[in-house]
Amino acid sequence: MGQMALIVTNPATEETIAELEPAGVEETDAAVARAKAAFEEWRAVAPTDRGRLLRRLATLVEENAGELARIESQNVGKPIAGARAEVAMVAQVFHFYAGAVDKHYGQTIPVAGGVDMTFREPLGVVGLIVPWNFPLNISSWKLGPALACGNTVVLKPAELTPLSALRLAELILEAGIPEGVVNVVVGPGRVVGQRLVEHPDVAKIGFTGSTEVGRGVMQGAAETIKRVTLELGGKSANVVFADADLEKAAAAAPYAVFDNAGQDCCARSRILVERSAYDRFADLLVEATRNVKVGDPADESTEMGPLISAQHRETVASFVDGEPLFRGDTPNGRGYWYPCTLVEASNQDRVAREEVFGPVAALIPFADEEEAVEIANDTPYGLSGSIWTENGARALRVARALDTGVLSINSNSSVRPSTPFGGFKQSGFGRELGMHALDGYSEIKNVYLATG
Ligand code: NDP
Repeated sequence: MGQMALIVTNPATEETIAELEPAGVEETDAAVARAKAAFEEWRAVAPTDRGRLLRRLATLVEENAGELARIESQNVGKPIAGARAEVAMVAQVFHFYAGAVDKHYGQTIPVAGGVDMTFREPLGVVGLIVPWNFPLNISSWKLGPALACGNTVVLKPAELTPLSALRLAELILEAGIPEGVVNVVVGPGRVVGQRLVEHPDVAKIGFTGSTEVGRGVMQGAAETIKRVTLELGGKSANVVFADADLEKAAAAAPYAVFDNAGQDCCARSRILVERSAYDRFADLLVEATRNVKVGDPADESTEMGPLISAQHRETVASFVDGEPLFRGDTPNGRGYWYPCTLVEASNQDRVAREEVFGPVAALIPFADEEEAVEIANDTPYGLSGSIWTENGARALRVARALDTGVLSINSNSSVRPSTPFGGFKQSGFGRELGMHALDGYSEIKNVYLATG
């Protein structure tokens, strides 16, 4: 087709690690056609057999975990220990949906004159569009429920990070999942992604990425009334009350925003601290941030690697002006490094309003519980967040008051294979993971049988 090769690089070394031929509209259409042809056979696979195939895939991910983690670490610049944990989660996700296939029940509903029952039907061909920050994880969050429900799939990884999805596609075939059920297409979002959004034979788009592109996906999907699940940006608050275990909260806070070099939609990048504890917490936080190990992703002890690209580093840098409260060190030489950075801010500053998607956290004081909730909710986003307090009633009160989809109390963890994940407001809609995700990959069919 004469297109320029797609160069895949290692962001820690800037070296080329693969050159691929990018797909265009034609290849996308061919993938949709393959998925469409495979649909009737796949939906007809007995639920226990579909579960068994997903279980085999989960096991293959476990058996190939070392290789998958290495691919992900080199392509995204992730520390190898973190990449290994992510691959372990991918296996858990497939195990979960292997077990979920025959537990996604319909209902019988009391009606006059007969029996009313509901069925969960697959949608058909679904298009899955995945970003570069957690390529394999986010692919599994969508593939698991999509396949469990009996759909066939076209998966589009981000151009920057296609390698783990290509390896996963091989494992999917090795697991015995029939050819055509999962089709990975590597090419630019505005070509391959957009074609999937517009394609009349694609029934649903599962999208994770920026709010801006998500808005376009939603508009494009309107033409064919496609179902969409959108998992978009975030600007989550880590709310620390003065009665919290401050040492514990401060020790954990850096990893809630600098993990994956801050390239995480769940990043708690606004750290809200009750004014009476602010100075003490700020000191503890600076100390904890100083200890974050930034360096070679291949090193077992590394906790933070580089950013994904030079262009992204420029964007991240544009959020920091003046002297920050703290700026960490980075390796010298090649790689898209950016240091852990803490800034003091008001909630009106750009650094507190927009998703930085890099290792920059804004420290913001609040007076009391009411103001904490007000500031935390004063954002267009609503994805995740944390509440640190020893007062259980307050923890639950604040949790209920926050307009956000995923919260943790005295912890910063967001995702588990069995629990729903997704946003309020402009962080998107629909839920991934847990049994909830199955609702987004199936239709409810209602059937009435007259018995009179
Ligand atoms: P995008 O939203 O552009 O990318 C996400 C996915 O969408 C990629 O697979 C991309 O493909 C694809 N895509 C791009 N354009 C279109 C389109 N017109 N139609 C359909 N699909 C499309 O995110 P970026 O990589 O540009 O990151 C920009 C910012 O987005 C980040 O700085 C961050 O703020 C936010 N973001 C949030 C994420 C989250 O987890 N919520 C994840 C990633 C980014 P391709 O890359 O191949 O062009």
